[in-house]
Amino acid sequence: MTTNNMQCVETECTQEGQPYEIGGVHLIMCQYHRYQLATKSKERARKVIAELDSIGAITHHTEGWTYMVRMANGMVKIGTTKNPELERFQGLSREKNQGVPVHVLAIVKGGESLEYLFHEKWFSLKVPGRMEEFHPDPVLLRWAEGLGVDSEVNTDRYEGWIEKRHNRKDAPIPEVFGGVVEQMAQLRESEAESFWE
Ligand SMILES: [Zn+2]
Repeated sequence: MTTNNMQCVETECTQEGQPYEIGGVHLIMCQYHRYQLATKSKERARKVIAELDSIGAITHHTEGWTYMVRMANGMVKIGTTKNPELERFQGLSREKNQGVPVHVLAIVKGGESLEYLFHEKWFSLKVPGRMEEFHPDPVLLRWAEGLGVDSEVNTDRYEGWIEKRHNRKDAPIPEVFGGVVEQMAQLRESEAESFWE
């Protein structure tokens, strides 16, 4: 009898795994197969929500907020939160953006169900291997900026935090967004439409 068998349950996978809970069942899965499974279940949810939306069956979205932010790597992250104010964006900046403040493009009322609709809408721009990141196509950027920040959300405290950081000489914020929109527009013109496929 083997003890401490932590091999991934996927057929022919020899990687070591970690317990992963799905539908109340704890499976041992490696990081790659955990990601695959999560991607598949998200894909299913996206399709169901999009179908419901297309027949007008969604009268209101789940609780929460969907945000679109520009990351230091230039990509657009579309995610949800219950608290779309200072703490959330500080957390994102610190944990997912090497301490560089994320640039808020839009915050819209509506939680996961709305996030899934947006993910479906922009799926052709999704960054492979990243759950919530999308290429900064000018059409996506303009769309997000057009949605803007819902009037119920107050981003003053977050903007104040960014300003304080800007003014600190020891922690300059790199210019990460300059020119990307223009570059993308040029790419669009010069390259085939299939650039991101
Ligand atoms: Zn595996």
